[in-house]
Amino acid sequence: MAGRARGVLIQLATLSTANCVSPLGLYLHIPFCGAICNYCNFNRGLFDASLKERYVDALAAEIAAADVRSAPGPGADTIYFGGGTPSLLEPDEVGRLVRACRARFDVAPDAEVTLEANPETVAADRLAAYRSAGVNRLSFGVQSFRNDELRRLSRLHDANRARAALAEARQAGFDNLSLDLMMWLPGQSVGNWLESVDAAISAGADHMSLYLLEVYPNAPLREEMARARWSQAPDEDAETMYVTAMERLEAAGYQQYEISNVARPGKRARHNMKYWTDGDWLGFGCGAHSTRGGVRWKNVAATEDYIERIGRGEPAGVEARPLSAEERLGDALFTALRLTDGIDLEAVASRYGVDIWERYGADLAVFVEEGLLRRSPTRLSLTRRGMLLAHEVMTVFV
Ligand code: SF4
Repeated sequence: MAGRARGVLIQLATLSTANCVSPLGLYLHIPFCGAICNYCNFNRGLFDASLKERYVDALAAEIAAADVRSAPGPGADTIYFGGGTPSLLEPDEVGRLVRACRARFDVAPDAEVTLEANPETVAADRLAAYRSAGVNRLSFGVQSFRNDELRRLSRLHDANRARAALAEARQAGFDNLSLDLMMWLPGQSVGNWLESVDAAISAGADHMSLYLLEVYPNAPLREEMARARWSQAPDEDAETMYVTAMERLEAAGYQQYEISNVARPGKRARHNMKYWTDGDWLGFGCGAHSTRGGVRWKNVAATEDYIERIGRGEPAGVEARPLSAEERLGDALFTALRLTDGIDLEAVASRYGVDIWERYGADLAVFVEEGLLRRSPTRLSLTRRGMLLAHEVMTVFV
């Protein structure tokens, strides 16, 4: 079982489809980093000040030219700066982009505005300036509170800087702080991992995302692991890391609401919920994905290519694809199952005209019997054990 658990937690937000009954999420991709981490396969490159300036211009231009068809409605209630390292943008650049979103879209006054930040890029005054620029939620890429682990991941900060960044953010007035932690790191024991979980609780984060490290075949970390003879703990330990962390976080007042995410009451990530609840979102910047009204598209991935296209007045989006009814249904079920609330059977029946149990019941019953799925008259959700094997259950829908 533990071996099968391996693939579950490493997947980040999976795309979903929808009809547009709820407000949009706006995603802005910032592809710059101060250094490239040895395990990273995101769309990012090394920071270059002049490239960044041209990129911010292009991003503002893309937002200003965005399609704001009145049906199904241009309202938005989240803005999310993801990366890369968005905290390499100056606060006035962030403010300019928030204003560009508000000028083009009907952004709710109380919209959630999140900035991903790396601890080494911030200080008290910079954080206060982000707050003034309209950011009201920070998501820190902490990954670990142990310096030996941070060094192995080639991160630029240490544990004290991470703690200081969280404290500075509080002083700057942020009441919604998230952090990312990674488990199953090279050389990491269950005890090492739980040290980081405890430190994150002590640091007072409102929200946490816990990911299992996946070492990609061509990641420099793979070579370093071979050279230094670091290995990842056995699969059984990975399972213990996940389950014990969730139990410890719940005891500390956090609620798990998604396979990899926990939050204090009222602090769930509104933006990411759109990915998991059949919502719509628009992505701006290189490599950003969008899903709206049953159509999915992706922007060109290369930063220069993106800037040039925008400069020529061309759309950055390529590979637009209408999703079939079956794809939309499959994605909606696949993503809803990531949530502890699970699939709302009545909502699916009214939106897609499908009785889930009638269609998939024979395959799903096995998982219910094994204690991986929980079925109520209105919902279908994974148990915690089931979350470790989510991929297996999800294959029923795809
Ligand atoms: S900071 Fe994040 S996006 Fe940048 S290289 Fe490291 S892991 Fe990748």
